[in-house]
Amino acid sequence: MLAFLRATGQARSQRGTTRRTRTSFEGRKIPLLILADPPVATPEEAAKSGKLVVFAQGNIHAGEVDGKEALMMLAREIALTEDRPLLKHLIFAVVPMSIPTATRSSRRPIGPAKNGPPEVGKRANAQGFDLNRDFVKLESPEMRAVVRFCNKWDPAVFIDAHTTNGSRHRYTLTYDGPRMAAMPDRLVSYVRDTMLPEVGKRLEKKTGFLSFFYGNFSRDRKKWESYGATPRYGINTSACAAHRHPLRVVLVRLL
Ligand SMILES: [Zn+2]
Repeated sequence: MLAFLRATGQARSQRGTTRRTRTSFEGRKIPLLILADPPVATPEEAAKSGKLVVFAQGNIHAGEVDGKEALMMLAREIALTEDRPLLKHLIFAVVPMSIPTATRSSRRPIGPAKNGPPEVGKRANAQGFDLNRDFVKLESPEMRAVVRFCNKWDPAVFIDAHTTNGSRHRYTLTYDGPRMAAMPDRLVSYVRDTMLPEVGKRLEKKTGFLSFFYGNFSRDRKKWESYGATPRYGINTSACAAHRHPLRVVLVRLL
């Protein structure tokens, strides 16, 4: 993965920089790829460029490898496509694998729908913590690094990519936006009512895949259930500048 990110970063006249500044519980470096045209190496340079920063992370749950693969493909596409309209207005910061042991410590997947690789990484980090419940206490160095990154780079968009298994519904992809009560109303309603449904429509038109809000049927099949709207989840965190720039920040979770 490191070689891939390095090659992507160096492709086409140095549009990207690869950094390994975030540290995991085990002291391993977590690779971060910054794609910008012209390239930027620091948050100060990013701010000076006047472009919005999009921050995407995968594998916050080590077993959920789809996001890692998808983000690497996206980074490659952004770096190598001849015409890059996105980089005219945006800077992409990509962390494909938030837990560096994600593909090393493997186990068999759980859940009834084992439609995936024969072995996947463990859900927790090396401390045994579920990182997507650590956005309030910040007990893991991985999530402290995310918050530190957000404070420095001030991303306008935060994408957190997950994979689910064992879900039984008709949707290939599910998504969600911020739902915590402390989030600004206009941000919550824009993401929920406008942005995500529009993204879903475009996805269906382009690929035929259906998508909907994250969740599953209750056991009696009478309602659609999801996780709580509490700030310990990355999607609801205020860490990524939601309070500083209430109308600019969008938190999206793709599953
Ligand atoms: Zn997950």
